[in-house]
Amino acid sequence: MVEAPRTGPDAARSPFRPDLLRGKVILVTGGGTGLGRATAEEAARLGAWVFLASRKEDHWKEAVEGIRSQGGIADGRSTDVRDPAQVQALVEEVYRVAGRLDGVLNNSAGNFLARSEDLTPGGFDAVVRTVLYGTFYVSQAAARRWISERTPGTLVNVVTSYSWTGAPYLLPSAAGKAGVLALTRSLAVEWARHGIRVNAIAPGPIPTPGAWRQLIPNTDMEASVREHIPAGRLGDPREFADLAVLLLSDALPFVTGECVVMDGGEWLVGNSFGELRHLPSRFWDERLAEHQRNRAKRPPA
Ligand code: NAP
Repeated sequence: MVEAPRTGPDAARSPFRPDLLRGKVILVTGGGTGLGRATAEEAARLGAWVFLASRKEDHWKEAVEGIRSQGGIADGRSTDVRDPAQVQALVEEVYRVAGRLDGVLNNSAGNFLARSEDLTPGGFDAVVRTVLYGTFYVSQAAARRWISERTPGTLVNVVTSYSWTGAPYLLPSAAGKAGVLALTRSLAVEWARHGIRVNAIAPGPIPTPGAWRQLIPNTDMEASVREHIPAGRLGDPREFADLAVLLLSDALPFVTGECVVMDGGEWLVGNSFGELRHLPSRFWDERLAEHQRNRAKRPPA
């Protein structure tokens, strides 16, 4: 296999050694845009041969050309992950072109805001079939090959920080991602004996054109999303890519069935006490002074 040069615009900020993924072939579904593209670019920069798959040729082709222009090795194929026959053909194509497959980022998804009483069967289906069925079809097609050839492999599934809590107005996505989390943990146990690791990443809000177009339609909404995140900021696609390449690499061989949340603490805010963080420090100074006064009044033990 030809090796990709390990230089590029992000080389200086990367926490990884430049050959982290050398010799690996990584398939990224939805790799032409957003978080998938950021991961594909980073994986290529770290030495992987990356293979991108999504429905729209102009999406993955543009990303492939971008990676190649930086000296990386990339290829792609138009694939609808909802169709098991297309997924099977995709995996066969990766083996035909690249000769092997080492890891998959199951990243393709659809999503939109809607009241659940307004959902149509088609709308529900489109999201759940892409998120849950697509992840299963790709995982199974890759794993069948790994199991029959007795080679190890790594699956990294993209869920979200609402996979545990559900999400009002995002019902199909919440249901699909919760299913992917269950799939991640089930397969991690079932396929560990074949040397297949299965992990997940649960991102919080990270600005990408796709996610923002569907979920954050105006700047007021973006401000309130940011306000809700204890870290006080949105995520960065490069942070997602760092985590994804780490999980796709051989650096964490004993980690399987894990879901790493990267959301600046967003999902843990949960109950209304989390909102106390917006109170001024004067509030906490007064609480402390009150505790101290009460302690001073108590008789010595
Ligand atoms: P995005 O750019 O819209 O990514 C979605 C990708 O999925 C697109 O590349 C799209 O490409 C592909 N896709 C959609 N339907 C497909 C199908 N049937 N078959 C194959 N590919 C399909 O949005 P993103 O923000 O990068 O999201 C990436 C992942 O992160 C998703 O799993 C999303 O749920 C998750 N996530 C994102 C955020 C965030 O704030 N950005 C937060 C939590 C989780 P085509 O249109 O070419 O098919």
